[in-house]
Amino acid sequence: MNSHDELARCLQRNRISRRQVLWLLGAGALSGCASSPTGGGAILVGMSEDEEKRVDQQVAPQQFSQDFGPVQDAAINNYLTTVGQRLDAKAHRPQMPYSYRVLNANYVNAYTFPGGAMGVTRGILIDLDNEAELAALLGHELGHVNARHAAQRQGQSMVAQVAIAGANIAAAGTGFGSLVDIGSQLGASVLLSSYSRDNEREADELGQEYMVRAGYPASGMIGLQQLLVDQQKESPGMLQTMFSTHPMSSERRDTAKKLAESKYAATNTRDPGQERFMDNTASLRRLKPTIEACQKGETAMAGKAYGKAEEQFRFALKATPRDYSANLLMAKCLSIQDKDAQALEYARTASRIYPQEAQAHKMVGVLALAQRDPASAYTSLDQYDRLMPGDASITFLKGVSLEGMGKRQEAAKEYTSYLRRSNKGQAAEYSYSRLKNWGYLK
Ligand SMILES: [Zn+2]
Repeated sequence: MNSHDELARCLQRNRISRRQVLWLLGAGALSGCASSPTGGGAILVGMSEDEEKRVDQQVAPQQFSQDFGPVQDAAINNYLTTVGQRLDAKAHRPQMPYSYRVLNANYVNAYTFPGGAMGVTRGILIDLDNEAELAALLGHELGHVNARHAAQRQGQSMVAQVAIAGANIAAAGTGFGSLVDIGSQLGASVLLSSYSRDNEREADELGQEYMVRAGYPASGMIGLQQLLVDQQKESPGMLQTMFSTHPMSSERRDTAKKLAESKYAATNTRDPGQERFMDNTASLRRLKPTIEACQKGETAMAGKAYGKAEEQFRFALKATPRDYSANLLMAKCLSIQDKDAQALEYARTASRIYPQEAQAHKMVGVLALAQRDPASAYTSLDQYDRLMPGDASITFLKGVSLEGMGKRQEAAKEYTSYLRRSNKGQAAEYSYSRLKNWGYLK
């Protein structure tokens, strides 16, 4: 796949021994060297473009669901998409299947998957001042996709692993099989773990370039970086994720400022689109007291101050009784305090607000089971399974519910299916003992 010259150049750039790379290529774990879409240099990538797209399809829906799903407000999602498309048309990889949604999560963040599936939390959106800052935020995420940072990180972690494995293989005298195992293990590695500082710098630079190409003033990037610096000072608790994925804000702000005042100086008379931004995000801004109370509540929960957290969620729900996120957070907070019956009420409300969102159904299922209502638990768990297939723990819990309903044969089916996917831990032991007691296993 790689010409001799390309491989040699790539090895040199990435300081990897030829033998290590050949191992990885042989094991099918490494896609090899590619030319960087943004710079023309050779980069080492652990995913092909098709794999990047596949990762989005497989992993992104789970993560978006964890973040309470997209806001059910077509107008605001369309607005975000319009701004995103204005930018991605000017990016280095316009062919990628970019998609944009505002998430119901309250914490301050935005992220992207390697194929371009992006999420922007409502928590950060209410803090932005104009469309140019939003363009800076989306431009930064586009920068990660276009420079193929996730694919590069995957490539590097494979090389790091193979260096260790190489020693083990030499010591154990085993052969090629171990490498194939390593390849498959790495496939599951966390995609949203932090990027390197160099990756962040590059994403900023590309983001500012894209926003300028799309007609925005370069100063939007300064506004965005300043917001992050301020947030870090004001409420560091709320921002763990943002700053583990996007560190070193003041340096980044200064760089953005330097570029806006030199290379892009001519763009700063452009309209930052404040009025347009305010009009299009007005519905979300009306929820600001609710979102901020949820932020405080989540911070209190992280600090195990559950009474204080409950107070915040109560405030949020008084302002917006039908807020999906606030109802689910309240359910979670009450459940931690062993107030399961009350928790179940809030989880049920959440599941009725957004029946197409998975997490509330899971919560209802688990809480109903704890309340010894296996039939209603089963209905909710099954609903979750349909919306978000592939979660082994749900299979187990469906088994428990069916057992509680006296449906032994159907329960055995779920336990068997669970054991096929997981054979360690308490749930596996329980499944096994049931199947054995019932005579399905000898
Ligand atoms: Zn970033």
